[in-house]
Amino acid sequence: MANIIFYRNKCIGCGICFEMQPALWRLSKKDGKASLLKSIPKKDLFVLPAGNPVLPLAKEVALACPVKIIKIV
Ligand code: SF4
Repeated sequence: MANIIFYRNKCIGCGICFEMQPALWRLSKKDGKASLLKSIPKKDLFVLPAGNPVLPLAKEVALACPVKIIKIV
């Protein structure tokens, strides 16, 4: 089990995460930024515990994010 960490404030709303892994990501109609589904808000970031079925693709999404605000720890 790992955690996907998402620093939402810096999201530019490019949509790459949603296009690559729609099971985990949405684009908010309110502010245009991405939302990490079922994640837990913690101060200025969001955390989602994630298991093996979603991790390989989540790592690719983290690499693809142009502003590098998705971390897997
Ligand atoms: S790929 Fe990164 S910048 Fe683009 S919408 Fe997703 S989190 Fe935001």
